[in-house]
Amino acid sequence: MKSDGFSKRNAEYTAHVVELIRKTKSLANQTPLEYEEIFVQACDWQDVLEELIPVERLTEAFKKAFKLHETSYPITALDIKHGYQQILIEENAQRVEEARQEKEQNRILFCISRKNHINDEGKTKTRNPFNHNEDITMPCPFCRPKDYDREWKLLYAKYHKKTSLKIVSRTENK
Ligand SMILES: [Zn+2]
Repeated sequence: MKSDGFSKRNAEYTAHVVELIRKTKSLANQTPLEYEEIFVQACDWQDVLEELIPVERLTEAFKKAFKLHETSYPITALDIKHGYQQILIEENAQRVEEARQEKEQNRILFCISRKNHINDEGKTKTRNPFNHNEDITMPCPFCRPKDYDREWKLLYAKYHKKTSLKIVSRTENK
């Protein structure tokens, strides 16, 4: 029966788990187990860990489990499972952060108003509110909000100044 069980097992996985169990004993300053004992324990660990952790990530999961481990008891299969879960959580958070940065760096590319852009610089065409016969090119308010605000202020100042000057010159003429 035992040999049948072994032949169905992924021998590479078993070998890795045997090594991990040897380390758990060693790190906890406990007497090493006989190979036969380690093997039986390794089969139990493999039965539950194999579907959760790929073989190439076992060592990483073990190291993470050790970082999180705060007692002098040996690291358990459950600790290794938690270690791997923690790795996945951190990797996911990193992916989310990278995506956020990517989006931030490519605001123009990911702009919700991209269809209104007239060029790659995130410019849009709009009617000049100070001169209704004219269209003006402005930065997109969604992906370039600071430039948009700045240009509106400049535009406002420009037309406001013109209007003030007209008023001044008109009063001067009188
Ligand atoms: Zn935009």
